[in-house]
Amino acid sequence: MSEIERNIAIVRERIAAAATRAGRNPEEVTLVAVTKGVGIDRVLEAIASGVTHIGENRVQEAAVKFPHLPPGIVRHMVGHLQRNKAKLALRLFDLIHSVDSLRLAEELNRRAMDAGVTMDVLIQVNVSGEPTKYGISPEEVEALVENMTSFPGLRLRGLMTIAPLGEHAEQARPYFRRLRELGERLRNKVRLEKLELSMGMTDDFEVAVEEGATIVRIGRAIFGPRE
Ligand SMILES: *Cc1c(COP(=O)(O)O)cnc(C)c1O
Repeated sequence: MSEIERNIAIVRERIAAAATRAGRNPEEVTLVAVTKGVGIDRVLEAIASGVTHIGENRVQEAAVKFPHLPPGIVRHMVGHLQRNKAKLALRLFDLIHSVDSLRLAEELNRRAMDAGVTMDVLIQVNVSGEPTKYGISPEEVEALVENMTSFPGLRLRGLMTIAPLGEHAEQARPYFRRLRELGERLRNKVRLEKLELSMGMTDDFEVAVEEGATIVRIGRAIFGPRE
């Protein structure tokens, strides 16, 4: 068994254990392998080990790597998206996690309508309010959601957040809980078949799963430390 294969097995076990602790079905949690900075050979190794969801944080890197992916892999944009990359992003990705302004949502909608497609998106929320983080504030979510109901090119699927870096995973819990509460409020306002909550990374994904994550975004626990 390769190291990547072993790491994926361990991550899946940890997700399952966290879900079980919270009385959830582990199958409700989608594992996205975040492959930024990871060469295509190792990405393909992860796919050979059963990964079916890949996440990138830069459009340009994705544009280089994605042509080498086998069919059927679900492609996630997890990083900040500049408006001038919206058109390319629509072609490359299946789900954009990082809608963080009305202007970006407008641009994606316009481009999606031009292309005759509907793009699945999440709204990125800066729950912790750290000035260095992308994402709209929790107070702005409702207004953005309301605006987006008139965007036929976008299908809102849920919310995404990045918890602050802490010494202990447990410190992330209040932020994940807040995202879930925001999501539940949103669900009462707009009709979502299923509310997606994209939260949890290498250092805190078990806490995120306990708090209701439906998508976890994992890089280092699968591929090792980044350069
Ligand atoms: C890099 C990245 C991840 C994965 O981070 P790890 O700590 O390596 O698991 C998840 N989400 C986003 C938005 C990222 O940029």
